[in-house]
Amino acid sequence: MDIPHGTVSGYAYHHCLCLACYQAYQAYKQHRLNSGDIPHGTHTLYKYGCRCIHCRAAIKAHRHVLREKREEKKATEAQS
Ligand SMILES: [Zn+2]
Ligand SMILES: [Zn+2]
Repeated sequence: MDIPHGTVSGYAYHHCLCLACYQAYQAYKQHRLNSGDIPHGTHTLYKYGCRCIHCRAAIKAHRHVLREKREEKKATEAQS
């Protein structure tokens, strides 16, 4: 499979861990963080590196939802 190295998609979609892809993704995260087009209090912004109190609260809530979904799935699987 051809991976476009040194690009965000190489890292984010193809999970390539080479330095070129990693650096592209870091630059992209920094760019999104600085651009200010993502509101604080979102787990997306936390993912991009913001650790303000609002984004930390958002990721906590998000993880909680994920855990509940997982347990729901487990319960459904146990029934069948
Ligand atoms: Zn790569
Ligand atoms: Zn924030």
